[in-house]
Amino acid sequence: MIWEPEYETLSREELEQLQLERLQSTVNRVYMNVPFYRRKFDELGIDPEDIKSLDDLKRLPFTTKEDMRENYPYGMFAVPLREIVRIHASSGTTGMPTVVGYTKGDLKTWSNLVARILAAGGVTKDDVIQISFGYGLFTGGFGIHYGAERIGASVIPISSGNTRRQIKIMQDFRTTTLVCTPSYALVIADTIYEMGINVNSLSLKYGLFGAEPWSEAMRQEIQEKLKIIATDNYGLSEVMGPGVAGECLKQNGLHINEDHFLVEVIDPETLEPVKPGDVGELVITTLTKEAFPVIRFRTRDLTRLITEPCECGRTFVRMSRVMGRTDDMLIVKGVNVFPSQIEAVLFEIEGTEPHYQIVVERKGRLDEITVLVEVSEEIFFDEMKKQQELIDTIKKRLSAELGISVEVKLVEKKTLERSEGKAKRVIDKRRF
Ligand SMILES: [Zn+2]
Repeated sequence: MIWEPEYETLSREELEQLQLERLQSTVNRVYMNVPFYRRKFDELGIDPEDIKSLDDLKRLPFTTKEDMRENYPYGMFAVPLREIVRIHASSGTTGMPTVVGYTKGDLKTWSNLVARILAAGGVTKDDVIQISFGYGLFTGGFGIHYGAERIGASVIPISSGNTRRQIKIMQDFRTTTLVCTPSYALVIADTIYEMGINVNSLSLKYGLFGAEPWSEAMRQEIQEKLKIIATDNYGLSEVMGPGVAGECLKQNGLHINEDHFLVEVIDPETLEPVKPGDVGELVITTLTKEAFPVIRFRTRDLTRLITEPCECGRTFVRMSRVMGRTDDMLIVKGVNVFPSQIEAVLFEIEGTEPHYQIVVERKGRLDEITVLVEVSEEIFFDEMKKQQELIDTIKKRLSAELGISVEVKLVEKKTLERSEGKAKRVIDKRRF
């Protein structure tokens, strides 16, 4: 079902007209109300009246997470605090969190956009939706929550954690839709099998997963283990939270809500647009945000745009699954390495579990990368010769994929830390 066909199936021409009007109004508002943007525009000699076409977007300055931190907590709000009805913040893994505010109007838009994403992933008012994202300052839980209520689904706001209780509720409340991070979905799936529960006795039909990058192989694994249709969705607190983009049931890229977000894909080094369809860093300009509009926000997420029409009928452009983050990218021996590349290889090799960790160390003057891979019990307790064969296979495949040699260590099932939120895949022990 398409939640708002009057927008989601607009022709390119109508959409671009709407985008331009909304861009002009956003640029005016930030110039009037956000000192940070007024200063930046003045420095670049930009008058809001200069924005006459969508092409003029590229004259505007970028916004980074650093800019937001420097204006902590409320410096980039475009409305007075009395207009703000909700405040969220990003996790702040590297120091100061970024704080985002919402007006009543923003919350209405947000729930509507999340409703679009949920509808695209198969959810209707007949569904029972278990939201196993964390509730709190993180936008995931509350973001999905209000969208699900907007659709009229029955919402179970269970939040993350306590996996066995999640499964008991899933059984008793006849949950049809699971929402969480993809890595947590796998933890839930494994626990269901450990508890000896027949997955076919559950009512699960759909899963909507987001908040971290995952591979196509991981989707297949989740679908098979949980017997669901799994779709990917994308959002980030600096821009809104979940609801920026989501996959339809064609499972072929995430439709971006382009009437609310104007996107570009740039080369993170040169800051110039990449060739159409090439991979680069996603940059987002909000078109309707009242409290916290952002101009050309550098997401650090790597993706590419898919402009071919989608069979579902939505006309919004799609982005491919996020392939990694520019700041997740490891540079090892001068080569760019993304955790997602390693994950994709591991999924193809029989006997390995989808849990892994990448450790980077500097030995003397050389970087060394070790991939810890969980293996099934049979293999872990198998004879040395067979273990060595598996190690060699993994090493060979990883070296071919990455272009550098890699150490591989097999570890027993459940050795690596399990996450109820975003999985920690990389441990970089190097000191720069
Ligand atoms: Zn589609």
